[in-house]
Amino acid sequence: CGIVGIVGNKEVAGRLFDGLKRLEYRGYDSAGICTIVDGEFSRRRAEGKLDNLKRELGSDPLRGSVGIAHTRWATHGAPTVGNAHPHIVGPVALVHNGIIENFKPLRNELMAQGRKFESETDTEVVGHLVAREVENGASPEEAVAAVLPRLVGAFAIAFLFRDHPDLIVGARMGAPLTVGYGEGENYLGSDAIAVAPWTQRIAYLEEGDWAVVRRDSIQIFDRDNAPVERAIVESGAQS
Ligand code: GLU
Repeated sequence: CGIVGIVGNKEVAGRLFDGLKRLEYRGYDSAGICTIVDGEFSRRRAEGKLDNLKRELGSDPLRGSVGIAHTRWATHGAPTVGNAHPHIVGPVALVHNGIIENFKPLRNELMAQGRKFESETDTEVVGHLVAREVENGASPEEAVAAVLPRLVGAFAIAFLFRDHPDLIVGARMGAPLTVGYGEGENYLGSDAIAVAPWTQRIAYLEEGDWAVVRRDSIQIFDRDNAPVERAIVESGAQS
């Protein structure tokens, strides 16, 4: 239900957690954070209140300077740890708000190819589709551009790529997603409030847009994969 991402120049887990706190008002039943540490994904997830995730992070701190975080409001699959986001599928990790309406035929297609599912969510099919592209040699940009047209529904999604720890890719269709411009780091969030303490310079993605967020740049593409400019506004959001 809420998404936060940081491509940072210092540790991100604590700040991602604070971002989730600011998104608490949207409601949720579980939460999680994933970062990349020494070329591997590192993840903590918990059912219920953010205090439970905080306890996980306290007993086993999460390192890393790039990461994505999520508060989930379950639509497909019970609110368990296993269904909590981020989901990891091979070289790809992702968080998702909304619903992938055609997840059943997509899952059947992927299972017929021998792909194994770990959760009951609609979200995990998107991870498999993007992972399949990456495993076939696609870049993160190529993989996301290939998969987005196959998705039916309303969604905001953020992807981490294990072998590309310098970027997050975000996409929106029917659910809000903003990118935030910082100093030596950049952000992604469900809304301006998510990123408010770090930057007030944000751009709202438009329907069908997707964005490649790096430490020193944000590139936005429209649904036809053409580079586009979206106005940077001063959000004025209060933290
Ligand atoms: N449909 C996804 C799920 O049930 C995402 C729900 C949400 O927006 O948090 O896991």
